Amino acid sequence: MKRTLHDLVRPNVQALQPYSCARDEYSGKAARVFLDANESPYNAPLNRYPDPLQQEVKAELSRVKGIRPDCIFLGNGSDEAIDLVLRIFCVPGTDNVVAPDPTYGMYSVCAAVNDVEYRRVPLRMPDFALRAEDLLAVCNRRTKALFLCSPNNPTGNLLERDEMLRLVETFDGMVVVDEAYGDFSGAPSWLREIPTHPNLIVLQTFSKAWASAGARLGIAMAVPEVVDYFNKVKYPYNVNTLTQQHALEMLRRRFDVERWVRRTLDEREKVVRAVRQLPFYVCDYPTDANFFLVKMEGATRIYDYLVREGIIVRNRSTVRLCDDCLRITIGLPNENNELLAALRRYQ
Ligand SMILES: *Cc1c(COP(=O)(O)O)cnc(C)c1O
Repeated sequence: MKRTLHDLVRPNVQALQPYSCARDEYSGKAARVFLDANESPYNAPLNRYPDPLQQEVKAELSRVKGIRPDCIFLGNGSDEAIDLVLRIFCVPGTDNVVAPDPTYGMYSVCAAVNDVEYRRVPLRMPDFALRAEDLLAVCNRRTKALFLCSPNNPTGNLLERDEMLRLVETFDGMVVVDEAYGDFSGAPSWLREIPTHPNLIVLQTFSKAWASAGARLGIAMAVPEVVDYFNKVKYPYNVNTLTQQHALEMLRRRFDVERWVRRTLDEREKVVRAVRQLPFYVCDYPTDANFFLVKMEGATRIYDYLVREGIIVRNRSTVRLCDDCLRITIGLPNENNELLAALRRYQ
Protein backbone atom coordinates (compact mmCIF):
# COMPACT_ATOMS: atom_id res chain seq x y z
CA MET A 1 0.00 0.00 0.00
CA LYS A 2 1.33 3.42 -0.93
CA ARG A 3 1.91 6.01 1.76
CA THR A 4 -0.03 9.26 1.59
CA LEU A 5 1.52 12.71 1.87
CA HIS A 6 0.26 12.70 5.45
CA ASP A 7 2.25 9.52 6.17
CA LEU A 8 5.41 10.94 4.62
CA VAL A 9 5.57 14.37 6.29
CA ARG A 10 7.30 14.57 9.68
CA PRO A 11 4.73 14.66 12.50
CA ASN A 12 6.13 17.92 13.95
CA VAL A 13 5.81 19.61 10.54
CA GLN A 14 2.31 18.20 10.18
CA ALA A 15 1.40 19.83 13.51
CA LEU A 16 3.28 23.07 12.87
CA GLN A 17 1.48 26.37 13.40
CA PRO A 18 3.45 28.60 11.02
CA TYR A 19 4.64 32.08 11.97
CA SER A 20 2.19 34.64 10.68
CA CYS A 21 3.96 37.79 9.52
CA ALA A 22 2.39 41.21 8.99
CA ARG A 23 2.15 40.71 5.22
CA ASP A 24 0.42 37.35 5.76
CA GLU A 25 -2.29 39.01 7.85
CA TYR A 26 -2.87 41.86 5.44
CA SER A 27 -1.67 41.56 1.86
CA GLY A 28 -4.38 43.46 -0.02
CA LYS A 29 -3.59 46.24 -2.49
CA ALA A 30 -6.26 48.68 -1.31
CA ALA A 31 -4.47 50.02 1.77
CA ARG A 32 -2.67 53.37 1.54
CA VAL A 33 -0.98 53.53 4.93
CA PHE A 34 1.07 50.64 6.30
CA LEU A 35 1.80 50.94 10.02
CA ASP A 36 1.69 47.25 10.85
CA ALA A 37 5.21 45.82 10.38
CA ASN A 38 7.50 48.19 12.30
CA GLU A 39 9.10 49.18 9.03
CA SER A 40 10.80 52.53 8.46
CA PRO A 41 8.77 55.02 6.41
CA TYR A 42 12.03 56.21 4.78
CA ASN A 43 14.20 54.78 2.00
CA ALA A 44 11.46 53.37 -0.29
CA PRO A 45 11.13 50.82 -1.77
CA LEU A 46 13.55 48.71 0.28
CA ASN A 47 12.07 49.97 3.57
CA ARG A 48 9.20 47.51 3.00
CA TYR A 49 9.30 43.77 3.59
CA PRO A 50 9.02 41.76 0.38
CA ASP A 51 5.91 39.80 -0.63
CA PRO A 52 6.37 36.58 1.41
CA LEU A 53 4.74 34.49 -1.32
CA GLN A 54 6.27 36.33 -4.32
CA GLN A 55 2.94 36.45 -6.11
CA GLU A 56 3.96 38.64 -9.05
CA VAL A 57 6.94 36.47 -9.86
CA LYS A 58 4.83 33.32 -9.58
CA ALA A 59 2.12 34.76 -11.83
CA GLU A 60 4.72 35.46 -14.52
CA LEU A 61 6.49 32.11 -14.05
CA SER A 62 3.13 30.41 -14.26
CA ARG A 63 2.59 31.92 -17.70
CA VAL A 64 6.11 31.11 -18.92
CA LYS A 65 6.16 27.53 -17.61
CA GLY A 66 2.50 26.66 -18.07
CA ILE A 67 1.90 25.57 -14.48
CA ARG A 68 -0.49 26.91 -11.83
CA PRO A 69 0.95 29.53 -9.44
CA ASP A 70 -0.07 27.45 -6.41
CA CYS A 71 2.19 24.65 -7.71
CA ILE A 72 5.25 26.93 -7.41
CA PHE A 73 7.56 27.50 -4.44
CA LEU A 74 10.39 30.06 -4.67
CA GLY A 75 13.46 29.84 -2.48
CA ASN A 76 16.87 31.32 -1.75
CA GLY A 77 18.41 29.15 -4.49
CA SER A 78 17.33 25.57 -5.15
CA ASP A 79 19.57 24.78 -2.22
CA GLU A 80 16.82 26.10 0.06
CA ALA A 81 14.31 23.76 -1.59
CA ILE A 82 16.67 20.79 -1.17
CA ASP A 83 17.08 21.59 2.53
CA LEU A 84 13.32 22.01 2.94
CA VAL A 85 12.66 18.57 1.43
CA LEU A 86 14.87 17.04 4.14
CA ARG A 87 13.34 19.15 6.90
CA ILE A 88 9.74 18.49 5.83
CA PHE A 89 9.94 14.76 5.19
CA CYS A 90 12.87 13.26 7.10
CA VAL A 91 12.94 12.55 10.83
CA PRO A 92 16.55 13.21 11.96
CA GLY A 93 18.43 10.13 13.09
CA THR A 94 15.75 7.83 11.67
CA ASP A 95 14.85 8.40 8.03
CA ASN A 96 17.06 8.16 4.95
CA VAL A 97 17.23 9.47 1.39
CA VAL A 98 18.68 7.78 -1.69
CA ALA A 99 20.49 9.23 -4.70
CA PRO A 100 22.66 8.05 -7.57
CA ASP A 101 26.42 8.57 -7.25
CA PRO A 102 28.09 10.74 -8.41
CA THR A 103 25.64 13.61 -8.27
CA TYR A 104 25.19 17.15 -6.93
CA GLY A 105 26.95 17.50 -3.58
CA MET A 106 24.28 19.54 -1.79
CA TYR A 107 21.95 16.55 -1.37
CA SER A 108 24.43 14.76 0.89
CA VAL A 109 25.44 17.96 2.71
CA CYS A 110 21.82 18.87 3.48
CA ALA A 111 21.19 15.27 4.58
CA ALA A 112 24.19 15.40 6.92
CA VAL A 113 23.15 18.77 8.38
CA ASN A 114 19.72 17.33 9.09
CA ASP A 115 21.17 14.08 10.52
CA VAL A 116 19.50 12.07 7.76
CA GLU A 117 21.23 8.99 6.37
CA TYR A 118 22.28 9.44 2.73
CA ARG A 119 22.44 6.28 0.61
CA ARG A 120 24.56 6.47 -2.55
CA VAL A 121 23.91 4.14 -5.48
CA PRO A 122 26.60 4.07 -8.19
CA LEU A 123 25.46 4.94 -11.69
CA ARG A 124 26.26 2.28 -14.30
CA MET A 125 29.36 2.70 -16.43
CA PRO A 126 30.50 3.30 -19.13
CA ASP A 127 28.22 6.33 -19.38
CA PHE A 128 26.68 6.96 -15.93
CA ALA A 129 23.34 5.27 -16.69
CA LEU A 130 20.52 5.22 -14.12
CA ARG A 131 18.88 1.88 -13.28
CA ALA A 132 15.70 2.14 -11.24
CA GLU A 133 16.21 -1.33 -9.76
CA ASP A 134 19.60 -0.30 -8.30
CA LEU A 135 18.01 2.54 -6.33
CA LEU A 136 14.93 0.57 -5.31
CA ALA A 137 17.20 -2.17 -3.93
CA VAL A 138 18.50 0.12 -1.15
CA CYS A 139 15.14 1.73 -0.23
CA ASN A 140 13.27 0.69 2.88
CA ARG A 141 10.32 1.99 4.96
CA ARG A 142 12.55 4.78 6.28
CA THR A 143 13.41 6.06 2.81
CA LYS A 144 11.46 9.28 2.39
CA ALA A 145 12.93 10.77 -0.80
CA LEU A 146 15.00 10.07 -3.90
CA PHE A 147 17.12 12.79 -5.51
CA LEU A 148 17.49 12.52 -9.29
CA CYS A 149 19.52 15.21 -11.01
CA SER A 150 18.88 15.26 -14.76
CA PRO A 151 20.95 16.44 -16.59
CA ASN A 152 23.22 15.17 -13.85
CA ASN A 153 26.01 17.17 -12.23
CA PRO A 154 28.98 16.47 -12.56
CA THR A 155 28.50 13.91 -15.35
CA GLY A 156 26.37 16.09 -17.67
CA ASN A 157 24.03 13.40 -18.97
CA LEU A 158 20.25 13.25 -18.89
CA LEU A 159 19.11 10.26 -16.86
CA GLU A 160 17.00 7.72 -18.77
CA ARG A 161 13.41 8.90 -18.75
CA ASP A 162 11.90 5.41 -18.53
CA GLU A 163 14.02 4.53 -15.51
CA MET A 164 13.06 7.81 -13.82
CA LEU A 165 9.40 7.24 -14.58
CA ARG A 166 9.64 3.80 -13.05
CA LEU A 167 11.01 5.34 -9.86
CA VAL A 168 8.33 8.06 -9.76
CA GLU A 169 5.63 5.42 -10.20
CA THR A 170 6.93 2.65 -7.95
CA PHE A 171 8.93 4.36 -5.18
CA ASP A 172 6.75 4.83 -2.11
CA GLY A 173 7.88 8.35 -1.21
CA MET A 174 8.90 11.69 -2.70
CA VAL A 175 10.96 11.88 -5.89
CA VAL A 176 12.92 15.11 -6.37
CA VAL A 177 13.92 15.75 -9.99
CA ASP A 178 16.56 18.48 -10.15
CA GLU A 179 16.43 20.20 -13.55
CA ALA A 180 19.04 22.89 -12.83
CA TYR A 181 20.45 22.26 -16.32
CA GLY A 182 17.14 21.44 -18.02
CA ASP A 183 17.19 24.56 -20.19
CA PHE A 184 20.33 23.26 -21.94
CA SER A 185 18.80 19.89 -22.83
CA GLY A 186 16.21 19.33 -25.52
CA ALA A 187 14.31 16.97 -23.24
CA PRO A 188 10.80 17.79 -22.00
CA SER A 189 10.56 18.93 -18.39
CA TRP A 190 9.08 16.67 -15.70
CA LEU A 191 6.73 19.55 -14.85
CA ARG A 192 4.05 18.01 -17.06
CA GLU A 193 3.98 14.91 -14.84
CA ILE A 194 3.18 16.79 -11.62
CA PRO A 195 -0.65 16.71 -11.91
CA THR A 196 -0.61 12.92 -12.28
CA HIS A 197 2.26 12.25 -9.82
CA PRO A 198 1.71 13.95 -6.44
CA ASN A 199 5.00 12.52 -5.10
CA LEU A 200 7.05 14.45 -7.67
CA ILE A 201 9.00 17.63 -6.83
CA VAL A 202 10.70 19.36 -9.78
CA LEU A 203 13.55 21.78 -9.03
CA GLN A 204 14.68 24.51 -11.41
CA THR A 205 16.85 27.55 -10.82
CA PHE A 206 17.71 31.03 -12.06
CA SER A 207 21.40 30.22 -11.45
CA LYS A 208 22.40 28.51 -14.71
CA ALA A 209 20.68 29.20 -18.06
CA TRP A 210 18.91 32.21 -16.52
CA ALA A 211 22.33 33.67 -15.76
CA SER A 212 21.41 34.90 -12.27
CA ALA A 213 23.40 32.82 -9.76
CA GLY A 214 24.12 35.97 -7.75
CA ALA A 215 20.43 36.72 -7.24
CA ARG A 216 19.81 33.36 -5.45
CA LEU A 217 16.45 32.22 -6.78
CA GLY A 218 15.40 28.58 -6.95
CA ILE A 219 12.08 27.09 -7.98
CA ALA A 220 10.39 23.97 -6.64
CA MET A 221 7.24 22.77 -8.35
CA ALA A 222 4.83 20.16 -7.03
CA VAL A 223 1.14 19.65 -6.30
CA PRO A 224 -0.31 22.45 -4.10
CA GLU A 225 -0.48 20.16 -1.04
CA VAL A 226 3.31 19.75 -1.16
CA VAL A 227 3.94 23.45 -1.92
CA ASP A 228 1.85 24.30 1.18
CA TYR A 229 4.35 22.42 3.36
CA PHE A 230 7.25 24.30 1.78
CA ASN A 231 5.49 27.59 2.54
CA LYS A 232 4.77 26.51 6.10
CA VAL A 233 8.40 25.69 6.89
CA LYS A 234 10.30 28.40 4.97
CA TYR A 235 11.50 31.68 6.50
CA PRO A 236 8.73 34.27 6.06
CA TYR A 237 10.69 36.60 3.75
CA ASN A 238 12.99 34.09 2.09
CA VAL A 239 13.21 35.86 -1.29
CA ASN A 240 14.22 39.51 -1.05
CA THR A 241 12.71 42.44 -2.97
CA LEU A 242 15.73 42.95 -5.25
CA THR A 243 15.67 39.31 -6.28
CA GLN A 244 11.93 39.38 -6.99
CA GLN A 245 12.40 42.47 -9.18
CA HIS A 246 15.33 40.84 -10.93
CA ALA A 247 13.32 37.69 -11.64
CA LEU A 248 10.55 39.74 -13.27
CA GLU A 249 13.18 41.50 -15.37
CA MET A 250 14.72 38.20 -16.51
CA LEU A 251 11.31 36.74 -17.34
CA ARG A 252 10.76 39.75 -19.62
CA ARG A 253 14.18 39.06 -21.16
CA ARG A 254 13.61 35.37 -21.72
CA PHE A 255 14.46 35.61 -25.42
CA ASP A 256 17.94 36.79 -24.42
CA VAL A 257 18.16 33.69 -22.25
CA GLU A 258 17.23 31.48 -25.21
CA ARG A 259 19.92 33.14 -27.30
CA TRP A 260 22.54 32.65 -24.56
CA VAL A 261 21.61 28.97 -24.31
CA ARG A 262 21.99 28.47 -28.08
CA ARG A 263 25.38 30.19 -28.05
CA THR A 264 26.54 28.09 -25.11
CA LEU A 265 25.53 24.88 -26.88
CA ASP A 266 27.38 25.92 -30.07
CA GLU A 267 30.46 26.71 -28.01
CA ARG A 268 30.19 23.41 -26.15
CA GLU A 269 30.37 21.48 -29.41
CA LYS A 270 33.42 23.53 -30.45
CA VAL A 271 35.23 23.00 -27.12
CA VAL A 272 34.47 19.26 -26.91
CA ARG A 273 35.69 18.73 -30.48
CA ALA A 274 38.92 20.61 -29.75
CA VAL A 275 39.55 18.81 -26.46
CA ARG A 276 39.31 15.46 -28.28
CA GLN A 277 42.40 16.41 -30.30
CA LEU A 278 44.62 16.89 -27.24
CA PRO A 279 47.39 14.28 -26.78
CA PHE A 280 46.45 13.59 -23.13
CA TYR A 281 42.70 13.28 -23.85
CA VAL A 282 41.22 9.92 -22.79
CA CYS A 283 37.45 10.28 -23.24
CA ASP A 284 34.51 12.60 -22.66
CA TYR A 285 31.00 11.75 -21.53
CA PRO A 286 27.68 12.59 -23.20
CA THR A 287 26.44 15.97 -21.99
CA ASP A 288 23.10 17.79 -22.05
CA ALA A 289 24.30 20.70 -19.90
CA ASN A 290 26.47 23.84 -20.06
CA PHE A 291 29.51 21.81 -18.99
CA PHE A 292 31.13 18.51 -19.86
CA LEU A 293 33.17 15.91 -18.02
CA VAL A 294 36.42 14.87 -19.66
CA LYS A 295 38.95 12.24 -18.65
CA MET A 296 42.59 13.18 -19.24
CA GLU A 297 45.90 11.53 -18.36
CA GLY A 298 47.20 13.35 -15.30
CA ALA A 299 44.04 15.42 -14.75
CA THR A 300 45.23 16.86 -11.44
CA ARG A 301 48.53 18.04 -12.92
CA ILE A 302 46.59 19.62 -15.80
CA TYR A 303 44.22 21.24 -13.32
CA ASP A 304 47.16 22.72 -11.35
CA TYR A 305 48.74 23.95 -14.59
CA LEU A 306 45.49 25.68 -15.61
CA VAL A 307 45.27 27.35 -12.20
CA ARG A 308 48.78 28.76 -12.74
CA GLU A 309 47.54 30.07 -16.10
CA GLY A 310 44.64 31.78 -14.31
CA ILE A 311 42.02 29.37 -15.68
CA ILE A 312 39.86 27.51 -13.19
CA VAL A 313 37.97 24.35 -14.10
CA ARG A 314 36.59 21.80 -11.64
CA ASN A 315 38.84 18.91 -10.69
CA ARG A 316 36.53 15.92 -10.12
CA SER A 317 39.36 13.34 -9.92
CA THR A 318 38.52 12.30 -6.38
CA VAL A 319 34.82 11.69 -7.11
CA ARG A 320 33.70 8.07 -7.44
CA LEU A 321 33.77 6.87 -11.10
CA CYS A 322 35.37 10.19 -12.12
CA ASP A 323 39.07 9.50 -11.62
CA ASP A 324 41.23 11.70 -13.86
CA CYS A 325 38.16 13.77 -14.78
CA LEU A 326 37.84 17.52 -15.11
CA ARG A 327 34.46 19.24 -15.31
CA ILE A 328 34.65 22.15 -17.72
CA THR A 329 31.99 24.86 -17.82
CA ILE A 330 31.37 26.57 -21.17
CA GLY A 331 32.11 30.30 -21.04
CA LEU A 332 32.28 33.11 -23.56
CA PRO A 333 33.98 32.26 -26.88
CA ASN A 334 37.18 34.10 -25.92
CA GLU A 335 37.29 32.37 -22.53
CA ASN A 336 36.86 28.97 -24.17
CA ASN A 337 39.59 29.84 -26.67
CA GLU A 338 41.93 30.81 -23.85
CA LEU A 339 41.31 27.47 -22.17
CA LEU A 340 41.97 25.57 -25.41
CA ALA A 341 45.12 27.57 -26.16
CA ALA A 342 46.44 26.84 -22.65
CA LEU A 343 45.67 23.13 -23.01
CA ARG A 344 47.46 23.01 -26.36
CA ARG A 345 50.56 24.59 -24.76
CA TYR A 346 50.59 21.99 -21.96
CA GLN A 347 53.34 19.34 -22.06
C1 LIG B 1 23.94 24.69 -9.79
C2 LIG B 1 22.97 23.66 -9.33
C3 LIG B 1 21.83 24.03 -8.64
C4 LIG B 1 21.54 25.47 -8.36
O1 LIG B 1 21.50 25.76 -7.05
P1 LIG B 1 21.04 27.24 -6.64
O2 LIG B 1 20.99 27.13 -5.17
O3 LIG B 1 19.70 27.46 -7.26
O4 LIG B 1 22.07 28.19 -7.17
C5 LIG B 1 20.91 23.07 -8.27
N1 LIG B 1 21.13 21.77 -8.58
C6 LIG B 1 22.21 21.39 -9.26
C7 LIG B 1 22.37 19.98 -9.62
C8 LIG B 1 23.17 22.31 -9.64
O5 LIG B 1 24.26 21.91 -10.30
